[in-house]
Amino acid sequence: MTGSPPDPEPLDSADPWARQEQTFPTLSDEMISAVRAFGQEEAPAPGTPLFERGQRTADFFLVLQGNIEIFELDLAGAPHLLRLINPGQFTGELYLLNERQALVTARAGVAARVVRVRRADFRRLLSSEPDIAEILMRAFILRRVGYILHGTAGVELAGPGHGGDTLRIQQFMRRNGYPYRLLDTESDTDAAGFLSCFGLSEDQLPVVVLPGKVILRNPGNGELADALGLIEALDPDKVYDVAVVGGGPAGLAAAVYAASEGLSTIVFESIAPGGQAGTSSKIENYLGFPTGISGQALAGRAQNQAQKFGARLAIARTVTGLDCAAQPYRLEIDGREAVRTRSIVVASGARYRKLEVETYDRFEGHGIHYAATAMEARLCGGQEVAVVGGGNSAGQAAVFLARGSLHVHIIVRGSGLAATMSDYLVQRIASSSKITVHPHAEITRLEGDRLLREVSWTDRRTGATETRAISSLFVMIGALPNTEWLGGCLALDAKGFIRTGSDAEGRALSSPFVTSRPGIFAVGDVRSGSVKRVASGVGEGSVVVQAIHQYLNPGVA
Ligand SMILES: Cc1cc2nc3c(=O)[nH]c(=O)nc-3n(C[C@H](O)[C@H](O)[C@H](O)COP(=O)(O)OP(=O)(O)OC[C@H]3O[C@@H](n4cnc5c(N)ncnc54)[C@H](O)[C@@H]3O)c2cc1C
Repeated sequence: MTGSPPDPEPLDSADPWARQEQTFPTLSDEMISAVRAFGQEEAPAPGTPLFERGQRTADFFLVLQGNIEIFELDLAGAPHLLRLINPGQFTGELYLLNERQALVTARAGVAARVVRVRRADFRRLLSSEPDIAEILMRAFILRRVGYILHGTAGVELAGPGHGGDTLRIQQFMRRNGYPYRLLDTESDTDAAGFLSCFGLSEDQLPVVVLPGKVILRNPGNGELADALGLIEALDPDKVYDVAVVGGGPAGLAAAVYAASEGLSTIVFESIAPGGQAGTSSKIENYLGFPTGISGQALAGRAQNQAQKFGARLAIARTVTGLDCAAQPYRLEIDGREAVRTRSIVVASGARYRKLEVETYDRFEGHGIHYAATAMEARLCGGQEVAVVGGGNSAGQAAVFLARGSLHVHIIVRGSGLAATMSDYLVQRIASSSKITVHPHAEITRLEGDRLLREVSWTDRRTGATETRAISSLFVMIGALPNTEWLGGCLALDAKGFIRTGSDAEGRALSSPFVTSRPGIFAVGDVRSGSVKRVASGVGEGSVVVQAIHQYLNPGVA
């Protein structure tokens, strides 16, 4: 390979490709010497493969002389040079923190001399050299952000932009930080050419196409996670100190604290890190973020932090059962595998409640949404939308959607918002000419074809019904606990949330997070009486680790 590829065009100053000195930094001579101590020097012949896209065990390489060539694979599987890694620079990205597949291929360039640091040694490097670790972590995160922003080194998703499954697949990849390009077959002029090139018809959409022309037709989340290499193999012989069920704020906090304090930790997460918070467009009341932070950004950082400390994150893996008679405890994963653990943190949170309206199921994913992020906002730009609910999540959604939509209708069963919503949101809603609150109202009819087209609500006092042309309905009416997988092992309250902090006779126990079984703890929204906030979930997840230490090592103060 000769010559270096042109730098990709940065989108703006926040684009990692515009911040080359942070995204592709050059280490100082002192740092290069420090890295050398963790690896071996090699002088590979030009073109020697160093790692391939799809490989789970890629090592870390630092260039001393010459260069390393980084390639992405196109849909046909052909390599395209993305960039050169020059002396003092290094390869790597987030896959070095877990056992997921590398997104790019690397080959030795001309006259290359490199330091290869193997995975186990790379972990030691991160924990022993904090200054270098900071530079590497920042670069890895920025590289992934750049790939996502430019759709580089990922897959192609083709499908109708408003389709429920197209949205589901997008959400799954977005929330798991996987780069993709969307070909919206409803609006993109290249769609017909793409479909004929791959021999596809419209009724087979959506499809995900991986390099090498591997086509997945409307894949479920599990199938997709498998194909993208997000699923990591589980070791049936290992006994973990802590297994965390749920990767929302509470579970991620437990993982960060447990792993950083030396406990072997695994997190199981059905969908993607972040939980309910991961679906929030902007969290404004989390300490330390005065201008707010999106739930996804918060979750991404927490995930990287947990992995940096050595926690394993098993994404797209659902815990389907608990054998609480076994010691160590045995968790059943996806109904087919098992993992053994000495203690468990239940952080499985809650899921959205639905409206009881005929035809509701028909429009789920085809106009009914449970989150208001930039992705949903794009779909309802310039149109009227309805938000159902009187809590903070409904208020945030209304304020956020009012920016781009024509008008937002808030449908609430109570007499107003003041009793159920934070005052700052109530004030913003009251002062917006683009938001109307409909008190004492409930949704009574949903109409449409393939997509939702009309929404009706009825005033419960007068019986008067209003119908509007609305294609996006945001349902934010609270949540039900995710506790069915516990199979009767733990004491629950009348609504199915986990009782904590007292024994069967009501006597107070050593920690507010102890459940009715020793060694099993519950934190966050799934816990009976919990405050349903990001900060409280994070607080509970961090504090519970002290109780876990006491349980695992009872004699130690
Ligand atoms: C749209 C929206 C906006 C919000 N905005 C704010 C805000 O601005 N400020 C604020 O403080 N709070 C906000 N909240 C509330 C906050 O997000 C929740 O209180 C918080 O996410 C609870 O965290 P958690 O970890 O306890 O549970 P969750 O966030 O519910 O996470 C639980 C996780 O467990 C996983 N899971 C469940 N069962 C299993 C299983 N069997 N196996 C594996 N994984 C499983 C789920 O997929 C999920 O990811 C908002 C909520 C929503 C929905």
